[in-house]
Amino acid sequence: MATEGNASTDNGRKKVGLAPRLDNGFYGQDIISVSQFTRENLEYIFGIAEEMRAIVKRVGSTDLLKGTVLACLFYEPSTRTSSSFIAAMSRLGGTVIPITQGVQFSSVSKGESLPDTIRTLESYADVMVIRHPEMGSAQIAADYARKPIINGGDGVGEHPTQALLDLFTIKEELGRVDGLDIGMVGDLRYGRTVHSLARLLCLYDIRFNFVSPEILRLPLDVMNGIRKRGLPVTETYDVADIISDVDVLYVTRVQKERFADLAQYEEVRGLYVITPELMGQAKEKMIVMHPLPRVGEISYGVDSDPRAAYFRQMENGMYIRMALLAAVLGKA
Ligand code: ASP
Repeated sequence: MATEGNASTDNGRKKVGLAPRLDNGFYGQDIISVSQFTRENLEYIFGIAEEMRAIVKRVGSTDLLKGTVLACLFYEPSTRTSSSFIAAMSRLGGTVIPITQGVQFSSVSKGESLPDTIRTLESYADVMVIRHPEMGSAQIAADYARKPIINGGDGVGEHPTQALLDLFTIKEELGRVDGLDIGMVGDLRYGRTVHSLARLLCLYDIRFNFVSPEILRLPLDVMNGIRKRGLPVTETYDVADIISDVDVLYVTRVQKERFADLAQYEEVRGLYVITPELMGQAKEKMIVMHPLPRVGEISYGVDSDPRAAYFRQMENGMYIRMALLAAVLGKA
């Protein structure tokens, strides 16, 4: 959301810089990065998400956001993020302008710039969710917009609402975050959900266990943040090295679409597969998570294991997004 009153500096861009820490209440604010969150405002959002779940389970929907409009602008494919935002808005009584799978039919395909598309949509909507292939694009949208922007994934950058639902799931499933051993497996380099979740987990006292091939190791800036925070970290190539130690096994897809050289993708695809046999070595009380979609990283045989939390994690996404929409629209 652009700051009112600032002199226009760059072709209508009102504000340049990082999105600020979220105040309690979140009213009118952008959600661009997990760096905006504190333990306190996470608790606030998680509390609302629990209420949202209770409402959905009890009566299905409410008219809290009746008369308000969400614009969903997705320049990249999405199933869960787009549909859970649409479901969230619908269950809160609001309506949605969905420019998702149909972005090729909008003026974006005519070459309209992101700022112009944002300015257009904000004349119709009260809040916008944007997914875009370029890192930093959500911040750019927020710099131009007067209405709140929610980052639904900016290239290899961040996916803050996913990190919130991931953390919410960890708390719901295991009852705490402090003291846990967190394993992250797969594409740590390009996986934006890993970047956001790892940054967010730095607010807690945990141990990180990273598993990836050399070319998909965690980016240096994320690793530096963890080291600066002084949290213990191990890195390995083999899931077997960590499977028996972790409380959370966060599995990710190798992000094929981010590879410039597909031969390199072929070298690392299918490297990690979580199977029932491997789960035999895991703790009795632990959870397996995945932001989804999975493309072979977790075999279907694991789905019936009570420790497989990825479908519950996915459902939590709707409650978290209901909470965020209500909060930024001042109705929480
Ligand atoms: N759905 C997640 C994302 O948009 C994870 C993935 O695509 O692998 O980043």
